[in-house]
Amino acid sequence: MNANLIQSSEGTPWAEWQQAARLARATWISPQQLCPPGRRLVLIAPHPDDEILMAGGLLTHFRGREDDLLLIAATDGEGSHPSSEYWTEHRLRRQRPLESRQALQQLDLDLNRLNWRRLNLKDGGLPREEAFLVNHLTQALRSDDVLMATWRDDGHCDHEAVGRAAAQAALARKAQLVEVPVWAWHWAQPDDPRLPWPRAHRIELDEAALARKRKALAAHVSQLQPDGPRPPVLPARLLDCLLQPFELVFL
Ligand SMILES: [Zn+2]
Repeated sequence: MNANLIQSSEGTPWAEWQQAARLARATWISPQQLCPPGRRLVLIAPHPDDEILMAGGLLTHFRGREDDLLLIAATDGEGSHPSSEYWTEHRLRRQRPLESRQALQQLDLDLNRLNWRRLNLKDGGLPREEAFLVNHLTQALRSDDVLMATWRDDGHCDHEAVGRAAAQAALARKAQLVEVPVWAWHWAQPDDPRLPWPRAHRIELDEAALARKRKALAAHVSQLQPDGPRPPVLPARLLDCLLQPFELVFL
């Protein structure tokens, strides 16, 4: 399934997810339980905006402890508007990293202290870069790290490649792997048997963290505005699901 195919449906609304028994049974954990002070979080985002969609709330807890965070941006997200006249690849390649920067500022992170790597890989081409990603992550990881990546069955080729690469690197380094569904909120049915529910946990977000996540997401203007007759890249229903007072992860 590619991104355009995913986006062609309206998606599962939060009201339906709210009725989902398996989601309701997912164990609650606090941000501190997952990433206690001194333990480093390595987060790899396939596209600019994924770091916020995946973990914008969790990331607010790294304010003042930016040394415990390594962010890796795999691509610059130039492939989000394949047939747009305005959002050309050239324009997106400049715009989207800027949006990411503004979003991280909205989380109140000190960007001067933040270790933020950009790999500049081709948007849509990550399956071909999987060996490189495994190698890069394995080099970057320490054994007590938490490695967060998009879920390996998320339904977008780049998200899946990052998930598979992260799983391999985490195994090699004995780091803790955390996989995060993003597009699954859109294509999956509530209690969908394709999701690994026994691994599901909900990181609890307080109101302040959720408010910052909301502001950070708003910085991704290119993904939120309609483009002529085309709807925004990020559907409203998906945003609804990702702006709840928790972040769903698979441990
Ligand atoms: Zn993405």
